[in-house]
Amino acid sequence: MASHSESLAAATTLSWVTHAGGRVAVLTLDLPGKSANLLSAAVLDELSAHFDKVDAAHDARGLVITSAKPGVFIAGADLREFAAGLDRPPAEIIAMARRGQTLFARLAEAAYPTVAAIAGVCVGGGAELAIWCDRRVMADTPATQFGFPEVKLGLFPGWGGTARTPRVIGLANALELVTSGESVDAGEAYKLGLADDLVPPAESSSLADPSASRLLTAALAMLDAEHKSGAWQRDRQRWSQPIAMSETELAFLGATASAVIQQKTGGHYPAPMAALELMLEASQLDLHAACLAEAEAFAPLFGSSVNRALLNVFFLTDRAKKTGGTVHEPIATATVIGAGIMGQGIAAANLKRGVAVRLSDAQPEALAAGVASVVREASYNKKTKAADLELALHNAALIAGTNDSTQLAAADVVIEAVIEAADVKRSLFAQLEPLLRPDALLASNTSTIPITTLAHGLERPELFCGLHFFNPVRKMPLVEVIRGKQTSEATVERMAAYARQLGKTPVVVNDGPGFLVNRLLLPYMNEAALLASEGVPFKLIDKAAKGFGMPMGPLELHDVVGLDTCVHAGRVMQAAFSDRVTGAPILERLLAAGRKGQKNGAGFYDYPPSKPGKPPRPVASAAAEALQDHPVEGVRWNPEDLANRLLLPMLVEATRALEDGIVTDPRDVDLALVLGIGFPPHRGGLFFWADTIGAVAILERLEPLQPLGKRFEPTELLKDVARTSGKFSSRPQPPQVP
Ligand code: NAD
Repeated sequence: MASHSESLAAATTLSWVTHAGGRVAVLTLDLPGKSANLLSAAVLDELSAHFDKVDAAHDARGLVITSAKPGVFIAGADLREFAAGLDRPPAEIIAMARRGQTLFARLAEAAYPTVAAIAGVCVGGGAELAIWCDRRVMADTPATQFGFPEVKLGLFPGWGGTARTPRVIGLANALELVTSGESVDAGEAYKLGLADDLVPPAESSSLADPSASRLLTAALAMLDAEHKSGAWQRDRQRWSQPIAMSETELAFLGATASAVIQQKTGGHYPAPMAALELMLEASQLDLHAACLAEAEAFAPLFGSSVNRALLNVFFLTDRAKKTGGTVHEPIATATVIGAGIMGQGIAAANLKRGVAVRLSDAQPEALAAGVASVVREASYNKKTKAADLELALHNAALIAGTNDSTQLAAADVVIEAVIEAADVKRSLFAQLEPLLRPDALLASNTSTIPITTLAHGLERPELFCGLHFFNPVRKMPLVEVIRGKQTSEATVERMAAYARQLGKTPVVVNDGPGFLVNRLLLPYMNEAALLASEGVPFKLIDKAAKGFGMPMGPLELHDVVGLDTCVHAGRVMQAAFSDRVTGAPILERLLAAGRKGQKNGAGFYDYPPSKPGKPPRPVASAAAEALQDHPVEGVRWNPEDLANRLLLPMLVEATRALEDGIVTDPRDVDLALVLGIGFPPHRGGLFFWADTIGAVAILERLEPLQPLGKRFEPTELLKDVARTSGKFSSRPQPPQVP
């Protein structure tokens, strides 16, 4: 294969290979200085210029598009560029969509067949470019992922993805791909018809020189086959037409998909439903008209409040993932003390990332059961919905249950997750610390005990901090890294890096009662219990919170956490903030009536035994309702008023947490709440939500509630924001924390 290449600009290279007696153009993406290829306006310009050249050559036998980035084909559009244009008028958004569509459509209109040779992540705009090609060959490696995640940002594909995909893989499959936003791997892509050929892993691994790779060879072979069969031309003809489906089929598909979407989004995320409506309608148009309809329907989503909020969450997460400073040696061995709910979750998170674990528990039965359950969880295969035997054997060799102090101390990091008792935790540290390596990290998963208090008596308090995982660890992406008074910055950085190594997102917070997340969760949960005490129907309180977008109502959450645990946490916070935390009488009454929550089948609600594998469902309980102060009959409770009552104490407390320096950046609050308690992503975070209302309007909402107590009293910070910019996001941001 002879080749010569010319580079128009740094992001893309066009080269020609001589093959089967003709010339094939190979367009390689390799965005300089970045680990992933992104489609910015400048990159689209380059692509356009390259397409011109290939067309002008007149003798091209085909075009292959590929990437030189390891593990990435194209990671989508450049979102920072998108975000900078959120205020553009609809006509400009439509023009932007049309530009991408007409550019990519050239791949399906050229005088030669086109093939995308994909190894690694191929999502968003990258998946659109690929689906416009006549054919796709994919490297069958775990890194290869194909999908349209746009709905997760409040959008749908706008460069022809909704028009072209159903024509290539069928409407039902395309609807699922676009409205779910989930990616598929190479094997699934092949089954769906997104990939036309797969290249086995070993043969596709080296892409440093694409001209030499088997992926390119497979793409060239695909071109040969297409030239022989002429299938690409017949497909082009077919795919430019409306999709042949009866009205009954369309109606059935629409009803099924809309039920799934409604159930998943709770009506808070308009993009999937908009995509569904568009794709049903556009399936009956020709491809060109379908693209026009796509661009028109895309414009109202772009820059919408949900789009802005979800972009905010995306950028917050991205910032937390990237912040890190120094590169740290990864943790290779971890000791977890306490094999209860949290210890097991933390141990499994380590095993899943290949970190060797020693697990310990004061009770031998708990330890044995803990080790077995950790191996089971870490070896669970989502696809087969069962434990993977080979992985289980591997994991079993990676974990050891032991109570031998010397063995436990031989680790890079020791995480304590025993019962919530300061003396028990301290005596453990006293026993283990002298045996630890001088640079080993020590952490507590405590939810309420100050880190600075736990550090008393340690020889090396600078190596100790809080590492607060959330329950259930396998599902919750947040870890609070809590800086005690004596914790060193190096320890904070290493622990944040360790959290990232486990696939979690760290938020660094300073020590203080409830740290950050529980300090802000409590006022919200307690307000719900106070409302319940006052006589507001339980279901209405939970409905108002869910209507705001919370994943679960706060009273149901009380039942999940356990009312005894809630009362304990409430007392801790009351002791710390007695000026504003008022205990809710109904909690004590429910406990006195033996109602502890889901754990004994009775809390604010009753939980009749559920079918195996099904979560318990709350059922209204006359006995619990009888414990309200004054059941209020006939009063109309406005969901918005209820939501304000629940959320404003959380917001006021968040401004206090900023004033107290628990964190210094409101963005840390927003990220911690979205990832730690499921604060609705479509609200963008607590302060992002407050900014959509404006600080002046927040003060107005607080005013009538102030007689209820100090928890509704505006802080100096809130008043200051109201006096000045009106928005928390406009305040000068402090430097980033590790
Ligand atoms: P758990 O009761 O499920 O487990 C605690 C385990 O520690 C038990 O198996 C117990 O036998 C063991 N243990 C007690 N003393 C010990 C000792 N001296 N040495 C070794 N093992 C000992 O508790 P959990 O829910 O897993 O909580 C553990 C810690 O994590 C607590 O500090 C808790 O506050 C914190 N936490 C809990 C949650 C949650 O939702 N459960 C969330 C975040 C943090």
